[in-house]
Amino acid sequence: MAQTAQRIALAARPSGEPTLENFRLENVPLPEAGAGQLLLRTIWLSLDPYMRGRMSDEPSYAAPVEVGQVMGGGTVSEVIGSSLPGFQPGDVVLGMSGWQTHALSDGKGLRKLDPSAAPPSTALGVLGMPGLTAYAGLLEIGKPQPGETVVVAAASGAVGSVVGQIAKIKGARAIGIAGGAEKCRYVKEVLGFDDCLDHRAPSLSDDLQRACPEGIDVYFENVGGAVFEAVLPHLNSFARIPLCGLIAQYNDTASSGRRMSSLMRVALTRRFNIRGFIVTDFAARGKDFYADMTQWVRDGQVKYRESIVDGLSNAPQAFIGLLRGANFGKQLVRVGPDKA
Ligand code: NDP
Repeated sequence: MAQTAQRIALAARPSGEPTLENFRLENVPLPEAGAGQLLLRTIWLSLDPYMRGRMSDEPSYAAPVEVGQVMGGGTVSEVIGSSLPGFQPGDVVLGMSGWQTHALSDGKGLRKLDPSAAPPSTALGVLGMPGLTAYAGLLEIGKPQPGETVVVAAASGAVGSVVGQIAKIKGARAIGIAGGAEKCRYVKEVLGFDDCLDHRAPSLSDDLQRACPEGIDVYFENVGGAVFEAVLPHLNSFARIPLCGLIAQYNDTASSGRRMSSLMRVALTRRFNIRGFIVTDFAARGKDFYADMTQWVRDGQVKYRESIVDGLSNAPQAFIGLLRGANFGKQLVRVGPDKA
């Protein structure tokens, strides 16, 4: 019997929150590597909030996934067939195979990983795209100074957890905002933030006042919506706001003019420096990032946590959960065995 591979395609564009009906699991024949090609077996698939944007065809910085196409995404894979010089079966590579068990590649854009240097899954998290997002956004735009107060939401997640830990390394105070007591305890006790506030508590604004008595100098924006509204009055003059993500708004179907106008007024009167960014803007910082972060992880100055589901077929549910905060740390799907 011919061997099969599996993949998950976009079945229909979501309106509001994605549902399982937006995805379709397909069985297809296992592809064969032709001349100059590699056959890759996916080990780890990264699930990331930006994928919600790719499911929609609204104009954005990146092209959408077409209906019927395989969902895109970062992956760690094992080379299982190669007719490409420089790659051997058994090599472990970082790439963009997307939501599928196997993929063909011409080698472009792949980076070989050394599984003895760090667990391969970290190339999708603390030592990968989310880590660089935190590093570059905080240091290039936030520019935290010793003694300043840095606030970050989604603080137990892939990006936020790293933002607060780098703020501490740079001598600033780090205040996290996260959903629920368990995540907040982890952010304080394991990651070493100075405090962590529950955004589900009705007292968030008062809690921010208590945790940031001298106001907020850097607000690393991952969330938007009600959390941003709670943070806004506590921002100091000349505060810096790396605008990284707005996950609370990704499922919105209508935008609110009222929110925008109050933001712009306060931004003007308090002279905020708000700068939106996409991690690829800072590709040139990749080398510094990798050197610093590898050292910090080795020293235990930066800790990380992964939220793992097993099996490609469970990716849609895990992705829906990620948008709701069901993940606790970097969300990964173990698509196949990790031999490292
Ligand atoms: P996380 O691992 O932080 O997971 C997402 C988290 O968002 C959830 O766990 C949940 O945490 C939080 N969240 C979801 N809905 C809400 C809400 N309504 N209010 C408050 N918090 C909410 O994801 P990442 O670290 O991968 O991404 C964090 C942000 O960074 C996202 O906005 C993402 O789009 C953005 N990003 C931007 C990049 C760029 O290039 N600009 C690159 C990478 C990420 P909790 O339970 O604590 O509420």
